[in-house]
Amino acid sequence: MNAGLRTASAAALKAMADNGTLKVPPVLEAPQGPRSRVGGKDVLVACSNDYLGLAADPRVVAATVDGVQRYGAGTASVRFICGTFTPHLELERDLANLVGTAAALTFVSCWDANAAAIATLADQRTAVLSDALNHASIIDAVRVSRAGRKVVYPHGDLAALDEALAGLREWDRRIVVTDGVFSMEGDVAPLPALIELCRRHDAVLMVDDSHGVGVMGADGRGTPSDQGVLGEIDVLTGTLGKALGGAAGGYIAAPTEVVELLSQVARPSLFSNALPVPTACGAREAVRILREEPERVARLHHLASGLRDGLRAAGLDPLPGATAIVPIIVGDTARAGRMSRELRERHGVLVTGFGYPVVPEGSARFRLQANAAMTDDDVSAVIDAIVAVAG
Ligand SMILES: *Cc1c(COP(=O)(O)O)cnc(C)c1O
Repeated sequence: MNAGLRTASAAALKAMADNGTLKVPPVLEAPQGPRSRVGGKDVLVACSNDYLGLAADPRVVAATVDGVQRYGAGTASVRFICGTFTPHLELERDLANLVGTAAALTFVSCWDANAAAIATLADQRTAVLSDALNHASIIDAVRVSRAGRKVVYPHGDLAALDEALAGLREWDRRIVVTDGVFSMEGDVAPLPALIELCRRHDAVLMVDDSHGVGVMGADGRGTPSDQGVLGEIDVLTGTLGKALGGAAGGYIAAPTEVVELLSQVARPSLFSNALPVPTACGAREAVRILREEPERVARLHHLASGLRDGLRAAGLDPLPGATAIVPIIVGDTARAGRMSRELRERHGVLVTGFGYPVVPEGSARFRLQANAAMTDDDVSAVIDAIVAVAG
């Protein structure tokens, strides 16, 4: 046992406890959904990514159970050895149809999908340009990639991006990578303008639509659909762990040749087990429900607007936006933690505060998220609780 490792770990933990940044995850004792249970008490969950209320939907649960009964618990193999099952191919076809691409490839997470996409598409002669507020999975994927140039452009700054691209003409490939919906701000990337820029500079546009798929666009087909550019993004990634059933898994959706190349060389697919088949079956059912019940998406947006409007009417200042993410900046990390505790203990509302290092110190926040399975009364209760602890 290395004594130094243990004392250094203990010291790091103590420092976090002392400055109020130690995270204590709530432990759920019932399924994910607008109503769950923590510490033996019912809670109203206003911070999950279960946007369409499908994580505990009986049809998604039944499809997952059916999957485990037909195919067993796991794949015991990577995709290319003997880990590709019929439901993987069916899910990939349905995902590609949903997001408007010719093909798709699944991974055990969108974290892996982003790592695979960037590592595969970027070599030493590639410049990658990444939005400053991109998700951690993209930041890390760029960091560990072999890309010869790594540029972080200011959030949503098209002029800065234009200028950066103009200076990178000599590179063999330029890849612009952005979130579709930004997870901490709840705002969206300006996709038509990004497409125009990328075409003008002969750059590849990669969009991670994890918070957009199932949420954005009247049909829930994602941010490209919402902005009228369905099928025009070069490489799309997304998660199955949010609106699409909430279990786990991610995908890359792209032209057939790109997906085939990824399936040949992407290391998270070559050297790591395939998505568990029951999970693939559940996700596929979630996609089917989304296609057949687009009214869930309308309901989600009705609730998200209700949250925004109600908070504003009560004198609070949620960040503006048209997604299902409603952030309220509360200042320092320790304050966010205290308010979170009070929300849960006094008001039965589960909203985990986000502080440093997830967001910059001083901009700690609550990220409220609507769920299509909430009632209007649920939204009112969340607003009342937030107002009570913010006062
Ligand atoms: C949540 C999220 C991910 C990670 O998804 P997993 O499937 O849980 O790994 C990746 N990118 C973005 C933008 C996300 O919001």
